[in-house]
Amino acid sequence: MLGITLENVSKRFDQVTAVEDINVQIKAGEFFTFLGPSGCGKTTTLRMIAGFYYPSTGCIKFGDRDVTFLPPNKRNIGMVFQNYALFPHMTVAENIAFGLEVRKMSRDAIRTKVAKALDLVRLSGLGDRKINQLSGGQQQRVALARAIVIEPDILLLDEPLSNLDAKLREETRAEIKRLQLELGITTIYVTHDQAEAMALSDRIMVMNAGKVQQIGDPISVYARPSNRFVASFIGETNLITATVEEVNGGDVVVKAANHKLVGLRSNANKGVSFAPGSRVVLSIRPEAFRLVNDEDVANIVRGKVGLAEFAGISVSYLVQAEQIAVKAMVINSGFQVLNRGEEIALTVNKNDIYFVE
Ligand code: ADP
Ligand code: MG
Repeated sequence: MLGITLENVSKRFDQVTAVEDINVQIKAGEFFTFLGPSGCGKTTTLRMIAGFYYPSTGCIKFGDRDVTFLPPNKRNIGMVFQNYALFPHMTVAENIAFGLEVRKMSRDAIRTKVAKALDLVRLSGLGDRKINQLSGGQQQRVALARAIVIEPDILLLDEPLSNLDAKLREETRAEIKRLQLELGITTIYVTHDQAEAMALSDRIMVMNAGKVQQIGDPISVYARPSNRFVASFIGETNLITATVEEVNGGDVVVKAANHKLVGLRSNANKGVSFAPGSRVVLSIRPEAFRLVNDEDVANIVRGKVGLAEFAGISVSYLVQAEQIAVKAMVINSGFQVLNRGEEIALTVNKNDIYFVE
């Protein structure tokens, strides 16, 4: 197990800056995810860690060792590529054995290790199959077995589930987590899928346009997003612009259109100004809203139902509340669904309001 450090790492391709000034310390044994939209620099960063690209500036360390300009075969990493990059004319066992043969290991040792790797990815008995006789999910497991058979210090996975259908993706996701826990191996996982990142990761690095937006565990990036990009990329949220009216101790009173809302001063990003008259941006998750009948409850947003979607365990409402559109996900509705055009009153706890800006 090795930790990984990136210090001021940037990568330029001619005029394009793919990755800019990345600083991160990944802990030994951690399941760490690079999350962001297509083109934000995830693969480029992963390829620099693997040694397929060298940084334009900055430095990469495995433990205390500087590996910035070390070729890939000197790094002891296992990598799974998005398209798997298997050899189609070779058998499963030959594909998995490839890295061991390059290392000039004995036949016996190779046979034992391949069998163990097949067992770990639950493909025992399929060693003699050709790659093109396997399903997509099985090919994905072969790619995983090939990556771990060399007993790497670090496992790098670039969107390993993106070629699988939804159901298989969820099953394989759980398998990858099990394998990582079993091997205890430092793992970097690349995905554009926020649900996947949340489900798997110890920590997530959210990226956009080549830059790090936030690094944190799944709960903190969800509950305390560092900017509006993170707030809307991770899960769903309502971003509501408001004006500060007053501050009462720990409470902040704001006005959004004609709605008066009270939030907590402590529930805010650094630099947010609560001086009266300041413009702030609130992030309120759809599931933070509840339906209310009681007039005395604080923090009420009143409006009309624009759209109601019944989803079994919850009902999603799009509410037009004067100039503001609000999305609310109401759980435990007792099968009562309000119709389009009906009056609706929603409430939110003050600690479920987060001041993003
Ligand atoms: P992601 O994996 O997050 O989708 P990439 O790391 O593949 O993003 O790409 C980041 C940016 O760098 C994109 O704008 C992409 O076009 C550019 N890029 C990536 N690889 C190269 C390359 N070899 N040559 C030129 N531009 C590249
Ligand atoms: Mg990519």
